[in-house]
Amino acid sequence: MEKQNLSLTMEDIEEAESLWKRFAPFLANEFPETSDTNGIIESPLKEISRFKGRLFPEVPGNFYLKCDHELPIAGSIKARGGIYEVLKHAETIAKEAGMLHDNDNYAVFSENRFKNFFGQYSIGVGSTGNLGLSIGMISAKLGFNVYVYMSADAKQWKKDLLREKGANVLEFSGDFSEAVATGREKTNANPNGYFVDDEDSKYLFLGYSVAALRLKKQLKEKHITVDADHPLFVYLPCGVGGSPGGITFGLKKVFGDYAHCFFAEPVHSPSVLIGLVTGEMDEVSVQDFGIDNRTEADGLAVGRPSRFATTVSDQLISGIYTMEDHTLYRLLAALADSEDIYLEPSATAGLVGPQRVQPYINQITGDKDVTHIAWSTGGSLVPTKDMEMFYNKGKSLIRKG
Ligand SMILES: *Cc1c(COP(=O)(O)O)cnc(C)c1O
Repeated sequence: MEKQNLSLTMEDIEEAESLWKRFAPFLANEFPETSDTNGIIESPLKEISRFKGRLFPEVPGNFYLKCDHELPIAGSIKARGGIYEVLKHAETIAKEAGMLHDNDNYAVFSENRFKNFFGQYSIGVGSTGNLGLSIGMISAKLGFNVYVYMSADAKQWKKDLLREKGANVLEFSGDFSEAVATGREKTNANPNGYFVDDEDSKYLFLGYSVAALRLKKQLKEKHITVDADHPLFVYLPCGVGGSPGGITFGLKKVFGDYAHCFFAEPVHSPSVLIGLVTGEMDEVSVQDFGIDNRTEADGLAVGRPSRFATTVSDQLISGIYTMEDHTLYRLLAALADSEDIYLEPSATAGLVGPQRVQPYINQITGDKDVTHIAWSTGGSLVPTKDMEMFYNKGKSLIRKG
């Protein structure tokens, strides 16, 4: 199994990138927020030097934020993996049915005959929130019947928004893994059902990996060099490990050893850390170690890692650090005050990266010219009232010191 996983190549990433390009005319049609970029779903790279100056001015290097909280359609990093996997599935079944041919303009996916066709099929997904949002939005738009199995800690606004977009939301009182297990079983019982499996998906992973090609271009535009004398350090919030794993895989293909990637997990949900340290991957959950998997970072509240992603990441990442929820809120408020950027709590986990891994940097690179990138993973769809609550909580924690 390991060998097969690691056989993913640069060609796989480039193939994923061309699927995104094929679907761009459809996306630009259906989601006006992507018309500026002609249907390409991408986020800006912004320097956050005021934030760095306030929090850890002593740490060397430039600090950037990869703003995936601004990704169109889903408002989170799940717009990469989740939307990719549904588009991939839609293309596959449309081709099998003889409805789609090489060289067709994919704007045809907007036609009623396609929506009627996909109406015979269903898509299921288990989600703590953001994955469900991305799968729900794109699946409903294509015409699929979509069922989102959500865990108890999923935010109400995410459920409301999904229902408004035409998805079926099934609420589940247990842990995320139970929602996934039930969703997988129910979806696969339907011969026309397709389950997006966050715990073991190659396609989610490949969808995420394309970010590396896009980042390479953005770094070039900003004249940021990545080479032996200019290492790149990237800090990625981690749940099941799919998004940070896919992006790390891509960055390692693009930049090789010059890219150093770190995952950030909540102290109460260190699922990938435990999977990697024990070598048991998805065979262990945090609960097996008496850890409760309770965190306000709903995007990271995952007790068991992805098999696929974790097996690949094992070979590629430089480290993992963990953090308490109160740190996430402090970072959220500090980023808002210094840069006027508002993230959801999960998405802030990369922001302490440069400080946390400083000893590693000293050891590995000495006084080289370092670029740090914290990957911001979600937040732009959070309702204002919820965001105010997050911010106020962070402010009061900062005041308490
Ligand atoms: C899903 C998610 C992550 C982590 O992605 P995984 O693939 O679960 O590791 C991080 N931040 C946010 C906001 C997310 O929604």
